Order: sequence, then C-alpha cells, then structure tokens
Amino acid sequence: MINKMTIQNLDLKGKKVLCRVDFNVPLDDEGNISDDTRIVAALPTIRHIVEQGGRLILASHLGRPKGTPDERYSLAPVAPHLAGLLGRNVAMAPDCIGPEVLSLTNKMQDGDVLLLENVRFHAGETKNDPAFSRKLAELADLYVNDAFGAAHRAHASTEGVAHILSPAAAGFLMEKELRYLGQAIAAPARPFVAILGGAKVSDKITVIENLLTKVDTLLIGGGMAYTFLKARGISVGGSLVEEDRIGMAGELLKKAVERGVELLLPEDHVIADAFKADANARTTDGVEIPEGWMALDIGPKSIDRYTGMLKNAATVIWNGPMGVFEFDAFARGTMAIAHALAESEALTIIGGGDSVAAVNKSGLSDRMSHISTGGGASLEFLEGKELPGIAALSNKD
Ligand code: AMP
Repeated sequence: MINKMTIQNLDLKGKKVLCRVDFNVPLDDEGNISDDTRIVAALPTIRHIVEQGGRLILASHLGRPKGTPDERYSLAPVAPHLAGLLGRNVAMAPDCIGPEVLSLTNKMQDGDVLLLENVRFHAGETKNDPAFSRKLAELADLYVNDAFGAAHRAHASTEGVAHILSPAAAGFLMEKELRYLGQAIAAPARPFVAILGGAKVSDKITVIENLLTKVDTLLIGGGMAYTFLKARGISVGGSLVEEDRIGMAGELLKKAVERGVELLLPEDHVIADAFKADANARTTDGVEIPEGWMALDIGPKSIDRYTGMLKNAATVIWNGPMGVFEFDAFARGTMAIAHALAESEALTIIGGGDSVAAVNKSGLSDRMSHISTGGGASLEFLEGKELPGIAALSNKD
C-alpha cells in the first residue's frame, strides 16, 4: 500500500475520532434502508474504534441534497440500523457542526458512537470550504477515512478536514481497497488481464490508456465494443456507437499494438431487433452485425475466447458488463465472465459499479478476491489518478 497511516497506527483510547464513512445507502419510499452493504463494509473500522475505547463520531453524506437540510436525505434511519448491527446504542446528532453537536461530542464516553447528520446539508461540504472543515475538525482529536467510495472527491469531510486533524489515517476498508487495487496496478502477478465493458467508451478512455501501460491482455465487451469495431471498419448495425469517439478508439487500438498488449474485441454477438427484454434475438456467426439489428451481448465464440484467456491469468481486473445484463436474454456473456472469475486461481478484482451488481446477481461474490465498494473512485484509481481523499491522509513516516 502507498505510504499512508492506517487505523492500526493510532492510539484511540479516550480520543474523539471523526470517522468519514460511506453511508450513502439506498432508501425505499418509506425511508427504510433497502441495501446495507455500505454500512456492513464499515463495521470492522467502527468495531475497532469502539473496542479500543475511542469516542466515535461518524460522518457521511447521503444522496445529493443541495447544501441545505432536506429530510429525504437524513441519515437518521441509519442510526438504529447501525445500532442493531453493532449491538450498542448509536446516538443521532441533529446536525454535523455547531454548538449543539460540539456539546454532544464533549459529553461522549469511551466507546460511545455518535452519527452526525448528512454533511451535504451544508454547502461548505462539496465546496471544500476551509471554514466548514474547521468546524468539523473542532469536534474531534483524530481523523479516520474509511469512505473509499467518496475518496475521489475533494470535499471538506473527505479532504479538507484531513489537513487539519492530525493524524489522519485510513480505515480498514480504505486500506483493503488500496492494498488490492494498488497491488494490481503497481506490482501485478502476470499474466495481468483487464476486462472492460459497460455502455460508453467515453467514460473509460483514460482507464484504457492507463491500463494499456500495465496489462498483458485487455478484453473489451459491452456497448463500448461497437465503437472499437466500427473503428476497425466492421459494420455494427444499430449497436451503440459514439461517433465522436471512433477516431480515439482507433488510436487506442494502435497503441495496444505498439505496446504489445493483446486487445480482444467480440468476434460474435447476441443481436436484437429492439432495445428491450423481450426483443427478437439471435446469435451472429461472425463479427458483422446486419442493419436493423443491435448487439446487446457478446456471443458464444467470444465467451469461449475470453474465458479461455482468463484461465491463464494471475491477476484480473473487471469493470463493466459484457452486455445488457439487466435483461436475462442478454446476460449470458456477463454471467460467463463472473463464473470464469469465480473458478479462477487468479487475484480477481471487481472494480465497482455495474460489474458489482452483475457479480451479486450471479451469487458468486464470495468467490472474488476483492469487490470494490467505490464505482467512481475505483475507476479514477484505474485511470492512475491520485485520489484527493487518500492523498490528504498523513504519511507513515
Ligand atoms: P457502465 O455504467 O458504463 O459500466 O455501463 C453499464 C451499462 O451498460 C449497463 O446498464 C448495461 O446494460 C449497458 N450495456 C452493456 N452492454 C451494452 C450494449 N451492448 N448495448 C447497450 N448498452 C449496454
């Protein structure tokens, strides 16, 4: 891992610890938490701070309120849910800064847990306003960041406050993300294979550019494959194509050749006559797609080729589905990749976003080495960018 302090380097006893977590959980119409994965992911850090006698002050955002209190985005439902998971009381603060909150934090005993209200109820959060960061910092003695999913944002609770409170350390979840993603990028066991899919090339150009300097093999599927195929002069019918990115796709294909990276595109497809779950569908023999049809999944030959490449891999990173996996008729390519990774001996890293949803749908999540909790953050990491929430943490020495 990069040279940052972690929670294990901290003496927590009797200290007020401001811990930024990612409790940005989905709420249903009645305000109940419909998926608590993110809360569960932060439990090791939370338990550690409590067990070490720290006074834990949790901060998070939820949704996108406009810098002012908005009940729909209150973190209040999270407090009892977390209390149930922890088996101890979790107090809910009426705000995240101010005299009332300060007085609550000053009354805390060792092992107490206080959840602050949504940090995005203040405009200073997303503006990374130093005055707002100072008010957050005033609540605590130490800072721990366990919100990998928000680490690509330079906000007050993820970045600004880490420059004021010292030490500022990575929590267990953050540390795990950095260990897996960091090792894959910096010192991967080879062969190193990346699988990229999803809708758009434009979202992933920088990721592809960076990975072309790291990987041995790049497998491309999903909607973005058709812009590449078109760049090769192949007819793609009505498949998703970003016309303004065809030139760039051609450049990337050239770069792969120059760098000796084996870049594979689908050689057959499952095509449909409309973009819907019950569209007429058939499999092509070859790579060409007839007019009036669109490719919504990779075909059986491509599946064989891609899963064959995965058999020899030692490190695999996967980001983005191979097809419109939300429709069962076009989920086979994505599920085949999930199964191949589950059976693989390689270090398997699922890089956030829709591929995580696909792996969860396949029921194979336990068989992956690491499933990233941060969609945007893991993409920026794979782009080779420095994440502000990580850069701001204290160095080890
Ligand atoms: P992304 O957020 O870029 O990872 O894209 C994920 C989305 O890409 C999913 O909702 C998929 O349904 C969609 N997708 C994957 N393959 C295709 C395809 N061949 N045509 C259109 N959309 C696709």
